[in-house]
Amino acid sequence: MINLIGYSEQKLKQLFADWGVPSYRVNQVFSWVYHRGTKQFNDMTNLSKDLRARLADHFYIALPRIAHKTQSRDGSIKYLFELENGSQVESVWMPDGARKTLCISSQVGCRLACSFCLTGTLGLKSNLTAGEIIGQYLAVNEDLPEADHATNVVMMGMGEPLDNYDAVCDALRLMVSPEAMRISNRKVTLSTAGLVDRIRQFAQEDIHINLAISLNATEDSTRDAIMPINKRYPIKTLIDCLKKYPLKPTRRITFEYVLLKGINDSDEDAVRLGKLLSTLRCKINLIPFNGFEGSCYEAPSEERVKSFQNHLISKKYSAFIRKSRGTDILGACGQLAAQAMTC
Ligand code: SAH
Repeated sequence: MINLIGYSEQKLKQLFADWGVPSYRVNQVFSWVYHRGTKQFNDMTNLSKDLRARLADHFYIALPRIAHKTQSRDGSIKYLFELENGSQVESVWMPDGARKTLCISSQVGCRLACSFCLTGTLGLKSNLTAGEIIGQYLAVNEDLPEADHATNVVMMGMGEPLDNYDAVCDALRLMVSPEAMRISNRKVTLSTAGLVDRIRQFAQEDIHINLAISLNATEDSTRDAIMPINKRYPIKTLIDCLKKYPLKPTRRITFEYVLLKGINDSDEDAVRLGKLLSTLRCKINLIPFNGFEGSCYEAPSEERVKSFQNHLISKKYSAFIRKSRGTDILGACGQLAAQAMTC
């Protein structure tokens, strides 16, 4: 039996073609599943009894189970999900006026081992399926009143999305498909540590969501030390690949830069960053380090962060200091580790 949630539109069309069922039936099924939240094929009353029975023989419809919810003082909510294989991942829902952003996970753990990231200390445990990736969004929306449904999705939770390439692409296609989840592709962002070969491959896909790059350093010696992936894809290789990325005219690449006190937060770093990105259409999100137990890093002072930002602004960059959400519940960037018992 296969979970229909996450099963791609293309595959379902192929299956229906094999069954001799017209392809508009796929739209009807998707509408039941993704718009009405139907969990039983028998309730899909505009399908023939025969097709309902056939679907029920092949598929089931299930979302990841919400194992725990933790509410932050700032209004964000961290969801802990239990997957079918028993492993756990987290998503964080962050309200900001009308905008409700959901940060979702793509892997249980992560193999990239960035030294400032708690998820990185876990190693890679497993890849999420496409259904488990979109299931986080669907389950959170089911849990919240309609006015609070997520308007934006960021793939910045646990894991490196481009290291779980096929499932992530299937999930993204379903997110932005007008037949399935109907999220605007401008409201979906994938964040990567910079897997250059995968970025090149992703550029060729018919998925036009926003791209965010976790740069985090301006010199290879520093980036090598905090992000081991840099040894494989050094800064110049990454930037050269991004220069060729087929960005739509109105889009910008987002660069994320985690500020670590005494490591990458000097004015010289800000100057180098400004030069490095000078030919790219981009914006910069500065993220003061979010601490966790056992980490050897600290966040810079507010003045240091401001000074870093001011240099970038003086060079005409859009540079934002990203306010950390949910730090009191280990829900901020780099703090997700699915520690069920400690929340
Ligand atoms: N693997 C992807 C997505 C997960 S990390 C990526 O690297 O982009 C999401 C963002 O959180 C990245 O920009 C990362 O640099 C940042 N981050 C990780 N640990 C952090 C921490 N302890 N404090 C602040 N930001 C952190």
